[in-house]
Amino acid sequence: MRPTLGLLLFSLLIPCARPEGPVAWMREGIVAASDMEALTFVLRRGGESADAVREWHAERSEEEVRRMKELGVNLVIVNLHKGAGLKAEAEDIEATRRFTELAHRYGIKVAGYVGSSMMYETFFREEPAARDWRQVDEFGRPIYYTAEQTFRYMACRNNPGYLAFLRKVLRLGIQDLKLDVIHFDQMQWWPEPLSCRCRYCQEQFREFLAQRYGDPARARRRFGFSGFEEVIPPPFGLTAPPVRLAELRNPLMQEWTLFRAASIARRYGELGDYIRSLNPAAAMIGNPTLSQESNQGFVYGVDLQQLLEHGDGVWTEEPNLPQWTADGRLVSQIRSYKAARAMGQTLFVWQSLAGYESYQKSPEVLRLAEALAYNDANLGVVAGGDAGGNNPSEETRRYIRFFRSHIADLRHTTPVADAAVLRSFASTQFNPSQSNFSTVLFEQTLIQSRVPWGIVFDRHLSDLARYKVLVLADQDALSDDEVAEIRRFVANGGGLVATQNTAAMTEWRTRRERSALADLYGQPRVVYLSSIEAAAPAPPPQMNYTIPNALWKLPRNAASLTEAVRRAAGGALSLRVQAPEWVTAELADQPATHTRLLHLINFRYREPLRDIPVEVRLARGTRLREAIVVTPDGPPQTLQPSTSGDTVSFRVPLLKVYDLVLLRTQ
Ligand SMILES: [Zn+2]
Repeated sequence: MRPTLGLLLFSLLIPCARPEGPVAWMREGIVAASDMEALTFVLRRGGESADAVREWHAERSEEEVRRMKELGVNLVIVNLHKGAGLKAEAEDIEATRRFTELAHRYGIKVAGYVGSSMMYETFFREEPAARDWRQVDEFGRPIYYTAEQTFRYMACRNNPGYLAFLRKVLRLGIQDLKLDVIHFDQMQWWPEPLSCRCRYCQEQFREFLAQRYGDPARARRRFGFSGFEEVIPPPFGLTAPPVRLAELRNPLMQEWTLFRAASIARRYGELGDYIRSLNPAAAMIGNPTLSQESNQGFVYGVDLQQLLEHGDGVWTEEPNLPQWTADGRLVSQIRSYKAARAMGQTLFVWQSLAGYESYQKSPEVLRLAEALAYNDANLGVVAGGDAGGNNPSEETRRYIRFFRSHIADLRHTTPVADAAVLRSFASTQFNPSQSNFSTVLFEQTLIQSRVPWGIVFDRHLSDLARYKVLVLADQDALSDDEVAEIRRFVANGGGLVATQNTAAMTEWRTRRERSALADLYGQPRVVYLSSIEAAAPAPPPQMNYTIPNALWKLPRNAASLTEAVRRAAGGALSLRVQAPEWVTAELADQPATHTRLLHLINFRYREPLRDIPVEVRLARGTRLREAIVVTPDGPPQTLQPSTSGDTVSFRVPLLKVYDLVLLRTQ
């Protein structure tokens, strides 16, 4: 729960698909409940309910399991090991053992939470060696969880002793307790200057450098010297956080960022492999910080293209719960859904989270609609103690019923995207106030103009064939190899929209004489835009950077951006919906049934929309057989489509909150 490149060169060489792929049952439809904290921790933390002990046990009773079953829950996340020690948490773990047996009898799968902190007051009694497992700062001082929870030291996942302990926890959870899923919290580093600098991190950083820059000439070109024996992780502690650098130019600071991202991804992958070795049907999910409005690759070492190569699902706890705000902004978690799907992951969201005020501002139905429209058949956490109990509102129940009764349409789908928006690591992470700001605004434009789009990361540049257009929104730092991939895409008929300083620098952020793509600008399907006219200025540059959703206003030249994408696509896009800018659309295919799905969400859900004109292009060689609209907001609606060439036109009679249009073809 919240407190609350990449080996760029390497990553381009590694195939995207995981050798084994995700665990199959996780793709059949998830409705989750959660009560993931160990009672030991709840009591140590303080601020709990006066009745916490009874409530905690009640949540694990057969009566509650039955209620969850009736609701349609099929996965429950409970405690495995928070961090107090296996003996200190023994009673909590026994409760999980009993709960898992019970849940399995009802056909419900169970996930076990594994934290990454050490509650030393008990943990060090049980594991005296654990004093050496702590994350430490550059002065050797321990890194705590938060300013309030100073009873928790962060443990280092690069430490072999801690990894051996984690394997013990996993054996207990998978083999002994028969858990179906392991949920790792805090799958990230802490922000600078609090990223771990223990001797293992230091040694492994030097090895990382030696591996990448073994050639002395290359090392000298990169750093001005070669040989890394005396290198330490670059200190960031000279200025108080946030890190007051406008962009990251120091090559060792860049490499340290890449190391943090590569090492956490590697450990996550190793833990996943270990879980699979214990039970091939067991899944792994993780909770990094997924907020792409931040440069989370630098801040938390979370490089989604590396990290999400592993595991079966990923959490978001971002502050972007869907809403249409009074000042006319569309706030959503759409970026997270799209990043997860780009990496073949299903996204875990909190549909309800007890005690968090932000949940009162965001309408419940919009959160549910977003999961229906954008997720890979996963409605998120709808019940359980963390979500405020097993008695959700009638609206939530209605959406769960809809999800379950239409699961055959919602699972095994692939998003259809005309435009791919690149999130280059060396650009968005190292120059966030420009590159990430432009990216966020371009994405916002595509969301609100309903252009079908997807997120791609550096490694996807070699595989763009399914897109019509690549969007480079001020992706200022691209390697020569990446530039070559982009040129190949354009030469093969792909469209390109580039803005501002795109490709002006290499992935090391060394300056080129001019953009490496400049000679393409002016070709028929290549559009260059010198600016994205933000409606509100970017926050001042710094390295721990966030573009809060208060700034997610459509840029003043949003229409030019959309038009540029249309032009670069060389004609009609796959979708045209004539609706106001508070309506979003997601297009997907279900290959097995030859169905094209159109999801529509009305963010001003209190004002229903009628007779919305829609044009959808069907996949080549298919013919429309049937078109219907289903929705949790009312009865199914019939459509009267007309077909012209490969385009189907119709009007959606009524959109309250969420509609699913099913275009069945043959
Ligand atoms: Zn460390």
